[in-house]
Order: sequence, then structure tokens, then C-alpha cells
Amino acid sequence: MELLMEEIRSIIPSDQIFTSLADRYSYSYDASFGSYLPEVVIQVKNKEEISSLLKLANTFNIPVYPRGQGTSLSGGPLPVKGGMVLDMSQWNGNLKIYPDDLVAVVSPGVLTASINQEAEKFGLMYPPDPSSAHVSTIGGNLAENSGGPRGLKYGVTKDYVIGLEVVTPEGEIIRTGGKTIKNVTGYDLTKLIVGSEGTLGIITEATLKLVPKPPASKTMMAVFDDLVQSGQAISKILTSGILPAKMEIMDQSSIIAVENYQPLGLPIDAEAILLIELDGHPLAIEEEMKKIEVIFKGFESVKVKIAENQDEAQSYWKARKLVSPAIVKIKPTKVSEDATVPRSKIPDMFQKLKEIREKYDIHLVVFGHAGDGNLHPNIICDKRDTEEMIRVEKAVEEIFKAAVELGGTLSGEHGIGTLKAPFMEMELGAAGLDMMKRIKKIWDPNNILNPGKIFPEEGQKLVLRE
Ligand SMILES: Cc1cc2nc3c(=O)[nH]c(=O)nc-3n(C[C@H](O)[C@H](O)[C@H](O)COP(=O)(O)OP(=O)(O)OC[C@H]3O[C@@H](n4cnc5c(N)ncnc54)[C@H](O)[C@@H]3O)c2cc1C
Repeated sequence: MELLMEEIRSIIPSDQIFTSLADRYSYSYDASFGSYLPEVVIQVKNKEEISSLLKLANTFNIPVYPRGQGTSLSGGPLPVKGGMVLDMSQWNGNLKIYPDDLVAVVSPGVLTASINQEAEKFGLMYPPDPSSAHVSTIGGNLAENSGGPRGLKYGVTKDYVIGLEVVTPEGEIIRTGGKTIKNVTGYDLTKLIVGSEGTLGIITEATLKLVPKPPASKTMMAVFDDLVQSGQAISKILTSGILPAKMEIMDQSSIIAVENYQPLGLPIDAEAILLIELDGHPLAIEEEMKKIEVIFKGFESVKVKIAENQDEAQSYWKARKLVSPAIVKIKPTKVSEDATVPRSKIPDMFQKLKEIREKYDIHLVVFGHAGDGNLHPNIICDKRDTEEMIRVEKAVEEIFKAAVELGGTLSGEHGIGTLKAPFMEMELGAAGLDMMKRIKKIWDPNNILNPGKIFPEEGQKLVLRE
């Protein structure tokens, strides 16, 4: 390590290198579970630094972990095998909009929300909107293929990336895709890197597609007495020819938690609230709102409110935003899942979640992006209570099984990281997982980049206890 540190100091300015215990500790965790100390943290600021560091890492056989703002909910940036953390968050100097090409070119540490803010100045929009957009980096979003409420209509991060600059695990600098919307030259390495969770390369620049900002939007709140019926209503709307920009759900536990946290006048005896936002031409929105009201009339005991203005709309969305902070007031530990099912299976998934909640006697709260089948079953628990955590681990496994059996996936947003690695074969099968391992082996023969992620180790199980 001493020799390696000498080499690092010869290529990286000393104010970008951190080795004290306190500094290393700051990089030992993310927003999921577990804490692992790296040996050194380096705040990188250009591609040449990264390239040289990766070449050194291969020579010294030291693991390297790219890290944005550490908001991963699946363990993505954790230095599970020790080694070098590369902090990309300080590399945020470039955010340039090219309005005539409808693209943005950004450096990896730029915060996601800033891209949309900058695009709006030109009447444009960068649609991907993870709830963490104000704190997470575009590099982290690209590596996790993040999505958000607008994913229903506009898709997720991968749908807006047309070109990347990447440093490969062996330190080569490559470009994938470009600035054109159409590009079919060879294999689509851009798509391979997006969602690879920092295991196939370090993203040093991205070219992102922008779209015209819709001229108007309108929000509706529908209050249901029956959770499963709300799932049926979601399917009905989605097959009616209307595509909302957002369609989010909060179950009764989320509603009660928000009211206890910050009273907003939400109906605490309702089993579910659906929040729907339509965007586009104002006349089209009016027409579509009326159609959705007619659909709701086909369900017993649903009450519908349409926000009169943007302030009222914001107050509806505030309720949804408060769910996460509100539920951790119930108990301190939040196990946040993002199992996703085909949209026709949303009612079945709600039913399964009800059964799992009762079987394991857990505090299971459901909210999320109901319109695209990406539910967020959150288990509220206390990690100091070992007996409870064992029940939670079993419940999580059953949630994944239910999603996969319904034709769904382990993760719609948060990625695999360390937490979902044990379940990969359940979804992909042995041959599918092996194909992914072979890709990793070719790109990163020495297993330098972000080891311990995505691929399960022999006998690895989900453990949420410290
Ligand atoms: C309150 C909260 C709300 C959230 N809401 C959402 C949501 O709505 N939708 C959603 O999808 N996620 C959500 N997340 C999860 C998280 O914010 C996203 O996964 C985000 O993309 C992570 O960005 P980051 O900068 O924090 O990256 P990190 O957490 O630091 O890293 C994430 C992964 O990206 C890799 N990585 C980081 N930078 C690079 C780079 N430049 N090149 C290559 N690999 C890199 C890391 O190695 C790691 O594997 C939420 C998290 C929190 C805490």
C-alpha cells in the first residue's frame, strides 16, 4: 500500500487525497445497509487522473469504487473489499445546453436537478426525476439507470443518454454513441454502461437528450376505500388511451404516517390515494381529466378532487414527498424495496403484499410509481431487534419471489448492488447470470472495478442485521 500511495501522490494533488480515519469513515456507507472502510479516498476531477489511477490499481491489484453522492439504496458505492474510493461529486464544472441539438453535455458530478433547471431556461426539459434529484449526481443516475414519477410517460435515465465518455476498468478512455439521436454504429455500449452500477467503467461525461417542456399540467387526487380497487383503477386508466405524466400511490399506512408527521388534512380512513398528473396542451388535459373522472365513476366509493391551481397541485404532491421522512418516525429502520411488476399485475401484487404483511407480522408500507408497476414496499423496523430483522429478511425474499412470479423484476430503480445480488439467479436463471459474469470478466479481467456488486458470492444471503 505504501508504494501505491507514493505513486498516487505523484499523479494526484495532495488536497484531493484523503487517508485519515474520519475522512475514510465518511465514505464507508451509503443510504442502504452496512459500512466498509476504504484505504484511501480520492476526489477526482478529470479523466486523465482516473485513467492513471485505474492503471495503477491494475498493477497493484487494488479495488476501485466510483462514488457520486452515496445516495444508493442498494449498496452500490460501498467499498466492500477495501481499496480506493473515487469521489466523483466534486467534478461538476460542465453543464452545457445545446438548444439547437436538444442535448445537454454534463460532467459526472453535476446534480440531476440542475440539468432540468438549466434546460428550462431554453423551454426544454430533462425528464428523468428520481426523488433524490436534488442530491444525487448524474453519474450515479447513469450507473443506476435511475427513474422517477415521470418515468411513466417519459421513461428513465437510459432513454435520455445518447453518448458517454468512459474510462474502462483497465484505464483506457473511450467514447460511446455521440450527439446524434440516431446512431447504429456497432454494439450499443452506451446502453451497456448505463445501469452497470460502476462495474464496467467510470463515466466521465454524458450527452443527454432533452425534450420540449410541456406547456401545461394538471393534478388530480383520487381517494379509495379499497386498495385492490385502486390497483384495478390504475390498469383501467392505463388501457384507456391516456398516458399521465405521473401516477403515484400511497397506501393507508403512508397516509396515516404523513398525517402524524405533518397534518395536511389527508383522509386517514382511506385505503389508498392515487395522485395523477397530466401534462401537454391545456385543452387536451381538460378533455383527458374528464375521461379519467368517468373511469373512476365505475368504482364504488372513490372520491376525486382536481387541483384548482398549481399551489393546490403542489400541496397534493407534498403529501407524496413526505412519505419517506414520515415513515421513519414510526421506527428507525427503513428497508426500501422497488420490486416492479407488469402493469396488469398491479392488483395481484397489492394482494400479495397484504398477505406478506400478515404472514410475517411486519409494518409494511406501500407507495410509489403505481403507473409503471414500480411499487415501493417499505418495511419499517428496528435493526437492533434481531428477531424482527429475521422476519423482515424473509419478507423481503418473498416480495422478490412474488414480483418475479408475476413476470416482474427485483429492481425497477434502485439497482442490485450488494443487497439484491443473492436473488439475481431467481430472475435471470443460471445461464443469464453467467452471460453477465462473462461480460464483466472481459471488461475487467482483474475484477478491479466495484467488486462485490451485482454478482452474488458463493452462498451469499440477504442479511440486514449489522
Ligand atoms: C431519499 C432518496 C430518494 C431516492 N429516490 C430515488 C428515485 O426516485 N429513483 C431512483 O432511481 N433512485 C432513487 N434513489 C436512489 C439513488 O438516489 C440513486 O440510485 C442515484 O442515482 C444515486 O446517485 P449518487 O450520485 O448518490 O450515486 P452513488 O450512490 O454514490 O453511487 C451509485 C452507483 O453509481 C456508481 N457510480 C457513481 N458515479 C459513477 C460514475 N461517474 N461512473 C460510474 N459509476 C458511478 C457507484 O459505484 C454506485 O454503484 C433515492 C435515494 C434516496 C436516499
